[in-house]
Amino acid sequence: MGTLVSISPTTGAEVGRWTSHTEDDLSTAVQQASEAADQWRFSSWDIRAALLHAVSHELSSRRVTLANLMVDEMGKPISEALSEIDKCAVAAEFFGEHAEGFLADRPVETSASRSWVAHEPLGVILAVMPWNFPFWQVVRFAAPALAAGNAALLKHAPSVTGCALAAQELFRAAAASVGAPEALFTTLLIDESDVAEATTRIIDHPSVAAITLTGSERAGMSVAAAAAHALKKSVLELGGSDPFIVLGDADVPAAARAAVKSRFLNGGQSCLAAKRFIVAESVADEFTEIFARLTSELIVGDPHDPATQIGPVARISQAEALQQQVDTSIAAGAVAVVGGRPLVPGSAFFQPTILTDVTPEMAVFKEETFGPIAAVVRASDDEHAVRLADTTVYGLGASVWSTNVDRALAVGRRINSGALFVNAVVASDPRVPFGGTRRSGYGRELSVEGIREFTNVRTFWVD
Ligand code: NAP
Repeated sequence: MGTLVSISPTTGAEVGRWTSHTEDDLSTAVQQASEAADQWRFSSWDIRAALLHAVSHELSSRRVTLANLMVDEMGKPISEALSEIDKCAVAAEFFGEHAEGFLADRPVETSASRSWVAHEPLGVILAVMPWNFPFWQVVRFAAPALAAGNAALLKHAPSVTGCALAAQELFRAAAASVGAPEALFTTLLIDESDVAEATTRIIDHPSVAAITLTGSERAGMSVAAAAAHALKKSVLELGGSDPFIVLGDADVPAAARAAVKSRFLNGGQSCLAAKRFIVAESVADEFTEIFARLTSELIVGDPHDPATQIGPVARISQAEALQQQVDTSIAAGAVAVVGGRPLVPGSAFFQPTILTDVTPEMAVFKEETFGPIAAVVRASDDEHAVRLADTTVYGLGASVWSTNVDRALAVGRRINSGALFVNAVVASDPRVPFGGTRRSGYGRELSVEGIREFTNVRTFWVD
């Protein structure tokens, strides 16, 4: 049996320590989830809506505690942590309200006397989640899964085990309050040393119907292979290196303000953060000057302080990986106009950084930068901007800035991505689907497409 430990990236102090579940514990959890799913699949829309409303209520009533847990375990600034809980509450409410409409039977005209398409629950869904949005990742998956009549198993990142257990507590409190089975939501404690084997065993379990993973390509490949081997459906939300394109006719100050928001939210540890800033030559100096000024004004510090805008990255090893990406890019000719190293050597606090003179061969362009590092590249024209934007293995989001919306759409349509935002920062929103192309993964979360991922699209034909 292993141990799960969470360590504050701010202080280096241990936040919590838990013993991982045994094989017997895990198999009991799957069994109980399966019994809960069998009961829940025939539940009425009213009780599903009531459950989701109760989840929203539990999130709101615990928001300060939950937000502080995130601050302690992964260093998210408290103001952003509170917003994350509020967003979770809105999403739970959204699926409570809309699940029935999203999954309503669809009558089809055929030669039958009656025929229709229904969306029925699959059963037990396993979610493997990362630490960067400890509650949002969970609610984004669990709210639609439960609203569709499934049960949820969560294997969270060990570094946010306190959040994972708090999630179980709040979902179970919500279930108890409406008379739904508590085992509809279970957190599994699996330590890193055993992650691939233990996850594969759960995926293989006959009662587990499908898997969703948000995380790195490495984890995605491992989980998708296990799912394929067991012939089960998987949804993958993986990395991203989103382009943020500023065309020559853009409102440059507005684009620069948005660039700061998009790149540095959550300390830059977001899959859909803009990471590569592709700027028309004619406005590149103006854009870079404003972007650099606003970035250097960001308040970096104690994530518990409400004024803080950037806390530490989640682990010291991550700060070291960022340093390497920055150093090799500078060695290849990039210029750090802001930041470029940790605030205090050896700490998890990395300075918000902007590198200019970046080229597509450099690490900060080619690789995903999971921290506060922006790469600025100049484009000679729209055609060049498209080519640069699409020089990536990823395809999560893309943001294009121009005062001419048709021009922005023409540029954006030629970029391969799961979302295109014009004059706006790429963000996830329960009303629209979210997911990627290429090595950013497959399948969709949120909205009608997301809730239908974990349903059996069933044909009914009555002669
Ligand atoms: P990670 O190492 O892949 O971890 C994510 C989760 O996968 C953790 O729970 C991890 O557990 C688990 N895991 C790792 N290897 C596994 C395996 N072989 N079998 C089963 N589970 C496994 O990801 P990370 O580096 O912490 O998180 C950052 C990555 O997530 C970035 O690439 C980011 O872009 C991506 N992300 C994507 C989205 C999206 O929606 N597209 C959103 C957020 C983040 P252990 O920690 O125990 O290994």
